[in-house]
Amino acid sequence: TAEPAAERPGFMGRIFGSAAPAEPRRELDDAMLEDLEDMLIAADMGTDTALRVTANIAEGRMGRRISATELKQALADEVTRIMTPVARPLPLYPKKPQVVLVVGVNGSGKTTTIGKLASQFRTAGKSVVIAAGDTFRAAAVEQLQVWGQRAGVPVMVAPQGSDPASLAFEAMTRAEAEGADLLLIDTAGRLQNRADLMEELAKIVRVIRKKDPSAPHNTLLVLDATTGQNALSQVDTFRKLADVSGLVMTKLDGTARGGVLVALADRFGLPIHAIGVGEQIDDLDAFDARDFATALVG
Ligand code: GDP
Repeated sequence: TAEPAAERPGFMGRIFGSAAPAEPRRELDDAMLEDLEDMLIAADMGTDTALRVTANIAEGRMGRRISATELKQALADEVTRIMTPVARPLPLYPKKPQVVLVVGVNGSGKTTTIGKLASQFRTAGKSVVIAAGDTFRAAAVEQLQVWGQRAGVPVMVAPQGSDPASLAFEAMTRAEAEGADLLLIDTAGRLQNRADLMEELAKIVRVIRKKDPSAPHNTLLVLDATTGQNALSQVDTFRKLADVSGLVMTKLDGTARGGVLVALADRFGLPIHAIGVGEQIDDLDAFDARDFATALVG
């Protein structure tokens, strides 16, 4: 059988006598697919998604000779295909204020993400009000005030331990009175008592709906990439607690490969609105499927 063109000395090589060594090719077999699968699982993709991705790559390629570059390309294409439908910026509505409820476990990066979002909206010429709805955590409230100052956005706070729903109502009143474009509401993230948290979130939603039945317009779930596969169960949990409309994945600047995003897209199909890539105010990027796939494949 004829060797594939890439394994013969290049045409230019014959002329110039400096053929680059051809990239080795290997037959795509079960062993190779298993290695690929292990690699994807190590990148946090989870077993189910890794299996599906590998199966799709195998399709039509099994038994054929393939180079590392071609395999990488196939993988990047497959990841891009999965991620493209979920790569969607936070939708903006003409509604004033557009109410964005931000949920997630403590430490996931809610406060930081709210600060970054507020700053981006301000830069885009939007007026923003923040409500520090995690009234039990004094540190979160202080942190949010610092972010508000940096972003040039007012932060509504309430006495420690007071009802987050009444704060949300006041913030809604203020945002309406000021004609603010957006109201970002931070919420508590303690999962120790889920029934409490569910009631707390439900009450916030109830009171803001008294002012605007279409609110909240977005419920963002903030996830920490370094928790790996844990992100999947967090989505499961928070979808029971609130009507999650989209995701923000933080801490993708660290060692986390973020393969869990592929698993999330594969399992839930929720839009990924943004990714956190650092602790500074500008470290929030739009999620780009192709860039992400290329980085993941390495
Ligand atoms: P919250 O408890 O959900 O409000 O989480 P915080 O916003 O307080 O964030 C928890 C920690 O994660 C803080 O130290 C943040 O600086 C850090 N953090 C948040 N987002 C990112 C990110 O995208 N990259 C990195 N490296 N750190 C982040």
